[in-house]
Amino acid sequence: MNDYTVHSVWVNGSKQPFDFKDKLITIQLNKELPAGKASVKIFYGGKPHVARRPPWDDGFIWSKDSTGHQWMAITAEGAGGKLYFPCKDHPSDEPNEGVDMLITVPKDLVVAGPGVLQNVKKHGTTATYHWKTNYTINNYSIIFNVGDYKVFSRPYTTVDGHNATVQFYVLNEHADKAEHFLDIFVKTIHEQEKYFGEYPFAKEKIGMVETPHLGMEHQTMVAYGNKFRYTKIGGEDYDWLMHHEFGHEWWGNKVTAKDWADYWIHEGICSFGDALYTREFAGEAAYNKIFQQSIFGIQNKLPVVQHRDMDEEAAYIDDIYSKGAFFMHTLRYVMGDSLFFPALKKFVTSPQYTYDNLVSTDDVEQFFTKESGRDLKPLFNLYLRTTDKLEVHIKTLPNNKYLVQLQNINIPLPLDITTDAGTKRLMVDSKGVRVDSKILPVIDPEVFYIKKIVIE
Ligand SMILES: [Zn+2]
Repeated sequence: MNDYTVHSVWVNGSKQPFDFKDKLITIQLNKELPAGKASVKIFYGGKPHVARRPPWDDGFIWSKDSTGHQWMAITAEGAGGKLYFPCKDHPSDEPNEGVDMLITVPKDLVVAGPGVLQNVKKHGTTATYHWKTNYTINNYSIIFNVGDYKVFSRPYTTVDGHNATVQFYVLNEHADKAEHFLDIFVKTIHEQEKYFGEYPFAKEKIGMVETPHLGMEHQTMVAYGNKFRYTKIGGEDYDWLMHHEFGHEWWGNKVTAKDWADYWIHEGICSFGDALYTREFAGEAAYNKIFQQSIFGIQNKLPVVQHRDMDEEAAYIDDIYSKGAFFMHTLRYVMGDSLFFPALKKFVTSPQYTYDNLVSTDDVEQFFTKESGRDLKPLFNLYLRTTDKLEVHIKTLPNNKYLVQLQNINIPLPLDITTDAGTKRLMVDSKGVRVDSKILPVIDPEVFYIKKIVIE
């Protein structure tokens, strides 16, 4: 069913016949188009779809703040931008020549949108906000928020030394919370820049806006709805939602998956980034603990990477977060920090894998294989393309000896093995290693792998 009425379609300035069926506009051209670019203008209108359970079920969110002001937001990650404007709706393509949005609201309200605010024109009882972005943008980030907002800004110097601006659009009724929120936000920005390089959209803004729904990674205007509920990491206030959604500025908005099948690159690596905040401010043991606990939430019912051209609903299984993040934790261990962290930053700062150049799981696999100098395909296959766990077999041999073997992977992997003499990191393969121990060896005590231990 169509949500809108399309009134007319114009291509290169001339009106064209069209069909609009099942949310798909098909334009019948009067004559063949010359090679190169074409301009398409579509006049359409109607009542926007209302979200039932945002951000999981998309649409417009019509809300009110506690002072009675209208408060409106949009989420469209799953349904796509076509939820409210005509667009090409597949993750394999993104608009890359900029977006202008002109939004008219009652003049006592404020519009927060992507990019840079060009101007506000008041006319009688209304005001028109002109927002413009020039970066490549996913169509579900082409949204706007309306509310009784006050803007708090701070200058920010990026890790590469560029001047940028942090802007927080907060409801007037929460204005007293804005400065502390910005303190936490700035700390978050510095920390993410440390691991992933410069904030990707520094020429426009580092934006966050208070929304009636939980959150979404809208480029340069990230939706924040966690109600200033902070937890402590390293003794200081931390906001998991802020950190996660903001992490998508790198993993989702700068690095963008080509297909829904590859969305673990957004959610898994972004969630791994959340754990790195803990590593940074609470230390390695606290970071390890995150994975020692999150492993219990991994379902392993479907592979993380399923099949091409799937839709959002099928792709968004919990494991793209938890197992995707755990995979990065394993990859870090397998490569070692001196190779892994520079490689991770190199990936997210390479023109080849960012902005206009969308990526697949194969790209990530080939990149890390090259950076590590070893074939990582079997590891990517095991974790991402199957639901199998790494199988480690322990065979008891005479004279307090054990044989430790990897069963279902054909590359050697590092493995922490604890014997009565302590813990050693050994390279283990399918042939196995012999260890001396008066006790049954404990395999991978810190939990760097999703594994199954078989004692023979
Ligand atoms: Zn996310």
